[in-house]
Amino acid sequence: PEVQSKKPSWLRVKLPIGEEYKHVRGLVDTHKLHTICESGNCPNMGECWGEGTATFMILGNICTRSCGFCAVATGRPLAVDWDEPQRVAEAIQLMKVKHAVITSVDRDEIKDGGSIIWYNTIKAVYALNPTTTLETLIPDFKAERENIQRIIDAAPNVVSHNIETVERLTRTVRIQAKYWRSMETLRILKQGGMRTKSGIMLGLGETKEEVIQTMQDLKESNVDVITIGQYLQPSKKHLPVQRFVHPDEFAELREIGYQIGFDYVESGPLVRSSYHSDKHVIAGYGR
Ligand code: SF4
Ligand code: SF4
Repeated sequence: PEVQSKKPSWLRVKLPIGEEYKHVRGLVDTHKLHTICESGNCPNMGECWGEGTATFMILGNICTRSCGFCAVATGRPLAVDWDEPQRVAEAIQLMKVKHAVITSVDRDEIKDGGSIIWYNTIKAVYALNPTTTLETLIPDFKAERENIQRIIDAAPNVVSHNIETVERLTRTVRIQAKYWRSMETLRILKQGGMRTKSGIMLGLGETKEEVIQTMQDLKESNVDVITIGQYLQPSKKHLPVQRFVHPDEFAELREIGYQIGFDYVESGPLVRSSYHSDKHVIAGYGR
């Protein structure tokens, strides 16, 4: 199909302004933290930061992988920063949020895949913020049990790992990843008793049937919560948007998701993995 470049009206968003926004901005800077909101140029920054929340990205801001949709820089990451977990915990405390989301780059060059820093971060956040709930959006850890077990041991309220796209497009969209390996990571997390979540982006050339198949595969992997959102091209160097999916189609997919049996489905043009994350943390939340 012809590539669409002009954004439709439902993707126009508020600009980030206001006191809460400035507060979050200040915390991110003084604690030398990175956020996926900024790295990914997220369209929801006005809303999320305006409500005093952001998604921290740990383990640096250079990734060993080079996914075709992602704006995070690829290269050799800097050395692991062992003070980072404490700074994240302090920033979350100062943000006074009830719920926080943390993600990371992939660190395929280190043996633990970054899972030790992940463990330390989750523990530090709960130690300093005992009533805060936490979602961790983790890498696939190449489906290595020992590394995934560290996440399970740290016991965040929700663990997400995004499948991102349908099986056929995985090679193009996430070149160093594998569709079934990600499914395996999700299965291992569930076996460890985690509440699990995954996300799919639309507009990369997938068919509706393929999306439904991916949802069924995620259900087979015992995933509890899914998010479905519109892919937006972060720069001209990234994969083009093949299609802007209409809000009605997102609504239809949400219904299909509930029919397949997920606990919670967030589906809409501006939905990101971390968008409204607080809503699907509590078990049995439903619609
Ligand atoms: Fe950040 Fe997620 Fe909100 Fe986007 S949706 S601004 S990435 S917290
Ligand atoms: Fe971006 Fe994650 Fe892919 Fe790295 S692994 S390029 S951070 S999506």
